[in-house]
Amino acid sequence: METTRTELVGTPQVVSQIDPTRPNWMEIDLGALDHNFHSLRKILGPDVRIHPSVKSAAYGLGVSEIARRLVSLGAETISCGSYEDARAVRGAGLADIGVVVFGSTLPAGIPSYLALDVMPTVHNFEIAEAVSSYASRPSRVYIKVDAGWGRLGFPIWRAEQAILRVARMQNIVIEGIYTHLPFSNAEGACWAQERTTLFDELIERLRKKGLSVPVTQARSSSGVLYGIKDKCNAVAPGSILYGKPSLADGVVDFSDFKSILVSIRSHLIHVSPDAADKTPGVFSRFAHQVTGATGVIPFGRKDGNRAPRPGQTACMIVKGVKVPVLSISSEQAVLDLSSVSDPKAGDEVIILGRSETEEITLADLARWQDTSMNDVLLMMRGRMPLLITK
Ligand SMILES: *Cc1c(COP(=O)(O)O)cnc(C)c1O
Repeated sequence: METTRTELVGTPQVVSQIDPTRPNWMEIDLGALDHNFHSLRKILGPDVRIHPSVKSAAYGLGVSEIARRLVSLGAETISCGSYEDARAVRGAGLADIGVVVFGSTLPAGIPSYLALDVMPTVHNFEIAEAVSSYASRPSRVYIKVDAGWGRLGFPIWRAEQAILRVARMQNIVIEGIYTHLPFSNAEGACWAQERTTLFDELIERLRKKGLSVPVTQARSSSGVLYGIKDKCNAVAPGSILYGKPSLADGVVDFSDFKSILVSIRSHLIHVSPDAADKTPGVFSRFAHQVTGATGVIPFGRKDGNRAPRPGQTACMIVKGVKVPVLSISSEQAVLDLSSVSDPKAGDEVIILGRSETEEITLADLARWQDTSMNDVLLMMRGRMPLLITK
């Protein structure tokens, strides 16, 4: 009963050259991933297992190459957000690596998980019973405890009895027990520390009742960076591995981590030398008055480009000059090129990244759109090819 879907949604194509029919691309540096993995190892010491999260198509950056690199760096288990991510890991040729899926499914989806040999999250009895009845042999699962975040999981107050009950079910092998306590500031850290301690106590009570499991896990990026204390033997970081801060500015030192997203680029497909005869209405949602040349890139809403919030001006870099974005439609964006000398169709446009003197960061895009960095990347997820710098 494997799913009949063949296409992987949100999986970017890896290319070595740009496609002239739609010359947009994203460049990632896997050397930065190595660097971040080692920085993380330094913080954690040698004994804590790192089970990196590649959820949401590796936070929009594409699962295949990243998962392969993480395994070569020593990750023993890959944490996925969905069945889709898990298929991408298996599709990357990683047939033997442990794969856990943090997101869940209807019970009827469990046979697909079993066919792919990936570990589902058991967060209620319905899923546990589905695994137990569909599995034809002992199958590994992770159990999720809701320690206060209020999403998936057995509520921590009732988790002890629930987990002992699941452990007795036929064909279920509990590989791991985990929880998730993300936070972004010092107040959140207090809350997370208190909840993590409750989770440690639960694991200890289960151990005293004779249930010990190979993997216990409570910390993601914010917990690791902030130094939340736990007695678990694994962590599941995502954001920091990709060099994306998971905490508010200034809460922790982030200087040991580099962004693996180096640039997002496009090319001008059209330049209009002067704006004299342009209809002002085209630009009515934007504050900018056009006095000179304008240019068009094929990077519109369908590519994940989003208009700035009122009062904000989004910018891109053309020939070393930061220029305002005038409008964004479904297929295209129009740039004000009046301050660029001799712009021509074919010129490169930096949507994110640096020129010699200018820089546009993911944080800039998020600020202009009044959203999170994660959101900006998820909007673009899989919508343009990836160039990979090794
Ligand atoms: C998203 C997620 C993580 C990773 O979170 P980051 O903040 O990206 O490190 C870990 N565990 C669970 C259960 C998650 O959902």
